[in-house]
Amino acid sequence: MIIILKQNANQDQVERLKETLIHRGFKLHLSQGTEASLIGLIGDTSSIQEDWLRAIDVIEDVKRIREPYKKASRSMHPEDSILDIGGRKIGGGNFQVIAGPCSIESREQITEVAQDVKNSGAHFLRGGAFKPRTSPYAFQGLHEQGLEFLLNAKQATGLPVVTEIMSAEHLPLFEDVDVIQVGARNMQNFELLKELGKLQKPILLKRGLANTLDELLMSAEYILAGGNENVILCERGIRTFETSTRNTLDISAIPVLKQKTHLPVIVDPSHASGIRSLVEPLSLAAIAAGADGLIIEVHNNPEKALCDGAQSLTPEMFDALMKKIDRSVEFFRELS
Ligand code: PEP
Ligand code: MN
Repeated sequence: MIIILKQNANQDQVERLKETLIHRGFKLHLSQGTEASLIGLIGDTSSIQEDWLRAIDVIEDVKRIREPYKKASRSMHPEDSILDIGGRKIGGGNFQVIAGPCSIESREQITEVAQDVKNSGAHFLRGGAFKPRTSPYAFQGLHEQGLEFLLNAKQATGLPVVTEIMSAEHLPLFEDVDVIQVGARNMQNFELLKELGKLQKPILLKRGLANTLDELLMSAEYILAGGNENVILCERGIRTFETSTRNTLDISAIPVLKQKTHLPVIVDPSHASGIRSLVEPLSLAAIAAGADGLIIEVHNNPEKALCDGAQSLTPEMFDALMKKIDRSVEFFRELS
């Protein structure tokens, strides 16, 4: 339930209202927008009489939220959330590009790619140290050593880093990581999500291979409910009957999520397609559909990549794409 406060409401009365609500067992979620001030009630509101609230002087209106995700819902937070990650903003008209290899393979490889993508204008460096692979015999990532190489590349380039976590047990290793990625396969690892909810670090939450958008939002809700409001959602393609591409990019997920939630939404055209030549058109489509950013795989030698070489761009291809991305972002910003 959302309580919309009157503009210029008496602050003492607002404080008394908050105390009463807390006393009745609710958790409060406060949202101070430019248009309105809201109090979100978290808890079982079925016993609350709306008329009781409407009769209170400082209250303009009361609305029940139908969605099971309360904190992620746009009705609770009408304005776009803007995350500030080391001075780089994402959401609310701020567009960011995350680029780098699927996996960290060596100190030289990650540092070289980091330098290349930085020179092309990427804002964040990606690279996996803990890799969720279908086969237990496939390269699993360099683990602690991979993170060390990634942090070296961060130091060398100044790019903030994004990397995937597979188990909450590894959290101590992620202290200097700027954005923790929850991969598609862990979108519903609820115990992991609860642990991430205890942090204040930004979490990049990828949509599961066969999960609905409401399920994605419920997973985000786990993190938000724990007190971590720094969540970025990522559409990365879903399983369909189509076999021409690795997954099917659900382009409508972007405007649908934008209607349902205030959280930033980015797109991963690399995993969505699995094919290098499709990364550019899907990136541009994502921008046109309103995405707040992109996460793109780039490798200095895709043919030799230990993971996802077929979908990785060369640094030269990425450089050319970045120019088109910048122009497209500008074009659609003017259009909207
Ligand atoms: C990745 O980003 O390398 C990855 C494994 O992605 P996803 O979880 O979307 O498959
Ligand atoms: Mn990958």
